[in-house]
Amino acid sequence: TELRELLLAHIRDVPDYPEPGVVFKDITPLLADPPAFGALVDALAALCARHGATKVVGLEARGFILAAPAAVRAGVGFVPIRKAGKLPGAVHGQAYQLEYGTAEIEVHTDAFAPEDRVLVIDDVLATGGTAEASLGLIRRAGATIAGLAVLLELSFLGGRERLAPVLADAPLDAL
Ligand code: IMP
Repeated sequence: TELRELLLAHIRDVPDYPEPGVVFKDITPLLADPPAFGALVDALAALCARHGATKVVGLEARGFILAAPAAVRAGVGFVPIRKAGKLPGAVHGQAYQLEYGTAEIEVHTDAFAPEDRVLVIDDVLATGGTAEASLGLIRRAGATIAGLAVLLELSFLGGRERLAPVLADAPLDAL
């Protein structure tokens, strides 16, 4: 589609980052281009409305940059899922496997009302580990998953397959 062409034209491949053999998708050129960034935010806000979301979650750190303006545009609240130790209130925490070692993310226990439907937004879906942990946290905090939306999906890493049973009937949109 036209939107997809516009977005892809502003994403840069950085070879051998953060380590040799990895090609990193760098979204900073897109963020620096108002028409492209604006079109992305509009598309994410439209997904929010289509899926009936009442809250938008952004995943630290690049997810914040996309999710916060989309939440404002859609007229719903923004909730951050953060790396462990950053949120000041009572939290639910979830540890998950990285390629090397483990990571832990957290969400405030009072971030959602029971009737909330949550659209989760991140920049890149790779193995799906981060998204899987996030969906679990949101459910533990008492809300329903309305969907997961990413700018880019690295299909060869199998994130969509991994997330299928976790998402259940919730849609996974890659732009
Ligand atoms: P996953 O947990 O393996 O799916 O990794 C996804 C997380 O790593 C997301 O929060 C992304 O921001 C980040 N990530 C993985 N690969 C890339 C990339 O090529 N560009 C930007 N972020 C990436």
